[in-house]
Amino acid sequence: MTENNLSKMPLLPVVGMGPPSLVGFFALTEIEQDSFFQALGERSSLRVKQIHRWFIQGVTDFRLMTDIPAGLRGKLVDNFVPFSSKILLHSKATDATEKLLLEFPDKKQIETVLMREEGRATVCLSTQVGCGMGCVFCASGLEGVQRNLQTHEIQEELLQIRALLQPGERISHIVVMGMGEPLANLERLLPALDWANSASGLGISARNITISTVGLPKKIIELASYKKPYHLAVSLHAPTDLIRNQIVPINEQVGMKDVLDAAQQYQEISGRQVTYEYILIAGINDQAHHAVELARVLSGRQSHVNLIPFNQVKGLPWQRPEEDSIVLFRETLRQRGVSATVRKRKGADIDAACGQLRREAARAIPGAV
Ligand code: SAH
Repeated sequence: MTENNLSKMPLLPVVGMGPPSLVGFFALTEIEQDSFFQALGERSSLRVKQIHRWFIQGVTDFRLMTDIPAGLRGKLVDNFVPFSSKILLHSKATDATEKLLLEFPDKKQIETVLMREEGRATVCLSTQVGCGMGCVFCASGLEGVQRNLQTHEIQEELLQIRALLQPGERISHIVVMGMGEPLANLERLLPALDWANSASGLGISARNITISTVGLPKKIIELASYKKPYHLAVSLHAPTDLIRNQIVPINEQVGMKDVLDAAQQYQEISGRQVTYEYILIAGINDQAHHAVELARVLSGRQSHVNLIPFNQVKGLPWQRPEEDSIVLFRETLRQRGVSATVRKRKGADIDAACGQLRREAARAIPGAV
């Protein structure tokens, strides 16, 4: 590629140093892709589609893309990398959960998880480097937020995980429950989910895609206005503002009423039932009277409560309740007509369970690991 050609090329959405990644290329508009390929002396749209198809099939080595002319394959090898992210760590848990620590060209790191269960393969996606919400029980926010992930970086998480699958496996579900607050990065997340959902992308059913939020009312209403068919989960975690303010600090700015009203609006506009997530922390929000109060708060709403017993985060003082209290909490809700289940813990032995994901800087805090 000559310098002259390079100067004609549109800016690729890469952060930091390193050659442009082809996944980043898929996030460009068709016009940008066209001019890029024209600068390489190629007819564009066909080539982009061909390369995209190879990626979707799991082939990311340009040399193996046999329907691309050898000359162009050479140019691709010389000028691009398939992914902008590097896998720094790949951990496997005893329950077949796998976790990747990915590093982007600007050295920022995130974690992405693959969970397996009864023929399902679920990817837990991160949307930010760190998290700015500061929930007191969660590892991801210990060091605050550093930046949003770009659309193509979220796409890369999916493609990197996809490469771990065994023959016959496919990504069936996505939960946006990794590091970060998804609704604080909605504009970059949605194109990545739409691509994952589309037939020319990963073809994952929209009904199997869940976005989990700490509960940002304005953003929930904005998401509802896009009329996307995705499932919404709201991290309620407490039956009263008094308790919620203590464990989900952002609540002081929003208040439970607005969170619940926004969730109700999402439900009405989307026609999809909202799930309320409720972490159970021993002695904080796990008593039967908390369940009674929660049932009262949710009465009259079509809702499902997903109970998440606290997962240990080293350096944090909280405890997981005893099994008996978890069951009592669930039954107290059910007796009051509130549908409730307890979330299965996945990947705890590799710190891949809910709330255990962190970036490398946080991992390095003495005493935090
Ligand atoms: N920012 C999003 C996604 C967070 S992760 C949100 O707040 O919903 C998904 C769920 O795991 C959230 O409900 C989150 O509150 C919960 N979680 C965080 N830390 C946890 C921990 N240590 N144990 C159990 N659940 C935790």
